Amino acid sequence: MITFASFVPHSPILIPEVGKENLKKLKDTIQAYKNLEHDLYASKPDLVILISPHANSQEGEFFTINQQPKLRADFKDFGDLVTKLEFDNDIGLGYQIKESCEDYFPIMLTSNKQLDYGSGVPLLYLMEHLPNTKIISIGYADLPYGDHIKFGELIRKQINLADKRVAIVASGDLSHKLHKDSPAGYSPRAQELDQTIIKLLNNNQVDDIVNIDRKLVKEAGECGLRSLLILLGIIKELNYQPEKLSYQAPFGIGYLVENFKVK
Ligand SMILES: [Zn+2]
Repeated sequence: MITFASFVPHSPILIPEVGKENLKKLKDTIQAYKNLEHDLYASKPDLVILISPHANSQEGEFFTINQQPKLRADFKDFGDLVTKLEFDNDIGLGYQIKESCEDYFPIMLTSNKQLDYGSGVPLLYLMEHLPNTKIISIGYADLPYGDHIKFGELIRKQINLADKRVAIVASGDLSHKLHKDSPAGYSPRAQELDQTIIKLLNNNQVDDIVNIDRKLVKEAGECGLRSLLILLGIIKELNYQPEKLSYQAPFGIGYLVENFKVK
């Protein structure tokens, strides 16, 4: 049973020890994260399925599911030596998902003790009151968008068989090229991509998101779209109400927090 679904950003600046003064510029995003944390806790999940653009470190033409029994996250790479997170992995359901997908597209089991920051940042914000909830860490693929929807549908089937309360968290940032001082450079089409995704999401036009012009996606530079597509595949048949909680881009990268209120 799916009890919660959300799409969240993973800027390292959101890590208090890293962002420091800059946290103020992400006030709306942080408030949205707090609202989500509340909803997630209230949904009483047995398990959180976490999809991150940076979980598949090879960025290969295959999906990944991490099978390491203990999953840890820290932010040493960003200079935060203090914050440490650890969760148990639901390796059983992760394995079931992998088995059910093998006939459709390449999928690999991985064994990374250390989670990527695209997983770590959402866990830091969302799991404060759920330290004993298990997680499954999934990475997307360099494969067509339609495969990501299909992957989501297959995940949902396994969730339905599992008799567990499952929350879905899709991690990802939108365009990386919104300002002249964006780290990835500026694209005049960056706004177009972010506004298109937000509009289609909130109008529930899932098929149109799958068919977004790939040239536009490439030009605008993002990492979140395929995480989002897997999530949309998972919740496709459910009755849900998308709600934009925040959208900010103070550093030239689009940070969207979206809650898909599952009814
Ligand atoms: Zn990213």
